[in-house]
Amino acid sequence: IQMAFLIVSIFPKLFVIGMFFFNMGKILGIIGGGQLGMMLTEAANNMKSEISNVIVLDPTKNCPASKVGAEQIVADFKDATAITDLAKKCDIITYEIESGDSQVLKSLEEVCEINPSPETLEIIQDKLVQKKFLAKNNIQVAEFSEILSKEQIESKISEFGLPVLLKTRTGAYDGRGNFKITSLGQIPEALEVFKGQSLMIEKFVDFKMEVSVIASRSTSGEIRTYPLVENIHEDNILKMTIAPARINETISKNAEEIAHKTMEVLHGAGVFGIEMFVTNDDQVLINEIAPRVHNSGHHTLQSSKTSQFEQHLRAILGLELGSTELVYNTIMYNILGPRDFTGIYKSPSIDLENTFLKMYGKLESKPQRKIGHVNLVDKDNLGTEKLLEIINTVSDSIKIIPA
Ligand code: AMP
Repeated sequence: IQMAFLIVSIFPKLFVIGMFFFNMGKILGIIGGGQLGMMLTEAANNMKSEISNVIVLDPTKNCPASKVGAEQIVADFKDATAITDLAKKCDIITYEIESGDSQVLKSLEEVCEINPSPETLEIIQDKLVQKKFLAKNNIQVAEFSEILSKEQIESKISEFGLPVLLKTRTGAYDGRGNFKITSLGQIPEALEVFKGQSLMIEKFVDFKMEVSVIASRSTSGEIRTYPLVENIHEDNILKMTIAPARINETISKNAEEIAHKTMEVLHGAGVFGIEMFVTNDDQVLINEIAPRVHNSGHHTLQSSKTSQFEQHLRAILGLELGSTELVYNTIMYNILGPRDFTGIYKSPSIDLENTFLKMYGKLESKPQRKIGHVNLVDKDNLGTEKLLEIINTVSDSIKIIPA
């Protein structure tokens, strides 16, 4: 009888303890703890039953993600020992940068789930491989070719016409690996700039708008795309995103279908930023895919039913994807460090209805460094042109000045 009493009294406690361990969320590792890692960590903080802890790997001590609660391993993104250490500590790894070492990640797939998969990352990391992959799957891109010699550049110029873009195949971002060749005489200079790097060439696209689709695919194969947005760049860096793009619905739908098809063939799990051109004759060409949450998706934090950060986590955890409905038209404006200043800055503030300032907690401003963004949300149906006017005044009040 005593034994029976003991079992009956202990069983509920064991049950509760068992349930606690059974329900414990996963430990998420993120390679990169910059602003994207930070906003992923914030999304994870709201999903405690699915994600119990976040560990980021980033070379900068006190990186933005660490300031919102992520543990940090301070190491280079490509440090194989540190990545292995991260894999051993985590249940699932993702990344906020595309320059991780896909070979090291491949070798760790036995240790830890990695999404998007290193295979997908490998396709995307090399612009030439990426373009070949898209072309093979009948997804339209600008005409392109591998480049191994000066003669090949000349021959492609005679085929494509001038101008052309000579691009480094790997490691470039924000247009840094691009050289626009407008005359045959510039070829030696272009080759000198990219000496020792593998190269490709592209026909210059005469586009009327740069756009992007934030697309997501979950580990169970569910695909959802956000509405098409318009991107305005200055010196190859994203200045603002207008959601939705100011373009007719046929083009928007076409772009969203292209993004959907890309996700079908790419087989990656997570959120992907798919950058595209709309040409003067209304064709939609993919320029580049980012295998991660994307700057042009920051508007989703306030504009959409599900933010791109939550969506990414849902996708890699195999949860049902959230709604991608755009509830409010929104403009996202990037806050960049001024060109003539490096150092500690005064954090700006703004007090304007429907305006959401997000600073990334970076200690120092550097020329053109992304240090925050503002979302201007059209809750009063003012229309995009009015929002653009407001953004002009807002941008003056969020200028970065020394502390
Ligand atoms: P990327 O780093 O290749 O994404 O290119 C950076 C920027 O260069 C893009 O946002 C475009 O403004 C421009 N660009 C890239 N490829 C082309 C192209 N084939 N034709 C025209 N502009 C391009």
